[in-house]
Amino acid sequence: MTTSPRPSRILVLNSGSSSVKYQLLDARDDARLAVGLVERIGEETSRLVHTPLAHEGAERRERTGPVADHASALKAVAEELAQDGLGLDSPELAAIGHRVVHGGLRFTRPTVITDEVLAEIERLVPVAPLHNPANITGIRTAQALRPDLPQVAVFDTAFHTTMPESAARYAIDVETADAHRIRRYGFHGTSHAYVSRRTAELLGKDPSEVNVIVLHLGNGASASAVRGGVCVDTSMGLTPLEGLVMGTRSGDLDPAVIFHLHRVAGMSVDEIDALLNKKSGLVGLCGDNDMREIRRRIDEGDERARLAFDIYVHRLKKYLGAYYAVLGRVDAVAFTAGVGENAAPVREAAIAGLEELGVAVDAELNAVRSDEPRIISPSYARVAVAVVPTDEELEIAHQTFAVVNGATEELNN
Ligand code: ADP
Repeated sequence: MTTSPRPSRILVLNSGSSSVKYQLLDARDDARLAVGLVERIGEETSRLVHTPLAHEGAERRERTGPVADHASALKAVAEELAQDGLGLDSPELAAIGHRVVHGGLRFTRPTVITDEVLAEIERLVPVAPLHNPANITGIRTAQALRPDLPQVAVFDTAFHTTMPESAARYAIDVETADAHRIRRYGFHGTSHAYVSRRTAELLGKDPSEVNVIVLHLGNGASASAVRGGVCVDTSMGLTPLEGLVMGTRSGDLDPAVIFHLHRVAGMSVDEIDALLNKKSGLVGLCGDNDMREIRRRIDEGDERARLAFDIYVHRLKKYLGAYYAVLGRVDAVAFTAGVGENAAPVREAAIAGLEELGVAVDAELNAVRSDEPRIISPSYARVAVAVVPTDEELEIAHQTFAVVNGATEELNN
C-alpha cells in the first residue's frame, strides 16, 4: 500500500485595499497552478482575471462587474479555482499563505495565524494604516471560507528585524519614539530575502559567505545591505515612503519640507501624505512612472524625463555607496523587480563610475533580456553585478509550507 504524500499546495494571497492578487503553487516542485487578481473591489467596474496553468492550453478567463467586498472577491476566486479542479476544498491544499505588510518587531518569522496573532497584526494598524487593514480583511475572509485550514502570515518586515539598532533607530527622542513605535522597519523583505539567497546560489556560495546589496526596483523601490544572509540595513523606514525615488513616492527628503508645505503652502496633513505617496517620485518629476515610457521620452529629447531619470539614478547610486560602506566588503549587487530586471539603462547608469570600487557592468551582458538569474559584470570585476528576478509568491509558498510542516528553523538559511 502506498501512502499519499502530504499536501503541498499553497494558495498565496496578497490582499490590498481594493485588490486581491493570488497564486496557487505547489511548494514541493515549485509548479504554478493558477495565478490571478481581482481589482477595483467595491466599484462597479471590478474585474477578475484568472489564468489556469495546471493544464496545457487552458485559457485565461476574465469576469467583469461589481464585486462588493473582499469576501465576494475571494468567493469568486474559489469558484474559478474549482472550475479547474483546484477548489479550496481540495485535500491537496496544505495552507493559505498571506502577505502581511507590517509585522512590527514581534514577527520575525512566518507565523501560523491564531486569534492572538491576528490581534497583534491589528495592533500594528497605526504604523501601517494603508496596508494592514486590507491584509486583515483578506485573512478573515479566507478563514471564513476554510476555517479548518492553516493560515500563515508572511511579513514584509520580517527579514529586516535583524537590523542593528544603529540602523533601525531614528535620531529622535527615544521615549517619544518608543511610545509610538517609531523606528525603521523596512519592507519588501520577502523579496530581499529571496533575491539575496538566489544571488549567493548564482555565485555558487552559501548565503552565509556573501555580502549582497539588493536593489528592489519596482513601482515601490528599496535597497538592502545583506551580510552573510542577514539584513543589516534597508532604505525603507517606518513606512514604505523612505529611501529611493519610486514610481509615485518621493523617498528621502528633509522632514522640514513637510512643515513648509503645511505652514507656507497651506496644505493639510492628508494632502501632504497624498502628495508624497501618490504624486511624487517619477510621476511628480515628469508625469510618468513607467520606466519604459520615461526612456522613450528621453530618446525623443524630453528634458523633464531626462531629469527624472537622473534624479532616480543619483539616489540609487548614493544608496549603493552607502551600503558598500556599511558592509565594508561587497560580493554582489543584485538588481530585481520590474525596473531592476528590465531596465538596462538604469543598471548601467547606477553602476557607471564605480570601477574603482570593483563594481562594473559589461554592456553586452547588460543588454541581454532573460527571465533567468544572470551576472552582468565583466569577469575581471571584483564585485559581481547580477540581475535576479524576484518571486515573492514562491518565497511565501515555501515559507508557508515550511511553517505548516514545522520546519521554521530551516527558513532564511
Ligand atoms: P510593483 O512594485 O507594482 O510590484 P513591478 O516590480 O512589477 O512593480 O515593477 C513595475 C515597474 O517596472 C513599472 O512601473 C515599470 O517602470 C517597470 N518596468 C516593467 N517592465 C519594464 C521594461 N521592460 N523596461 C523598463 N521598465 C520596466
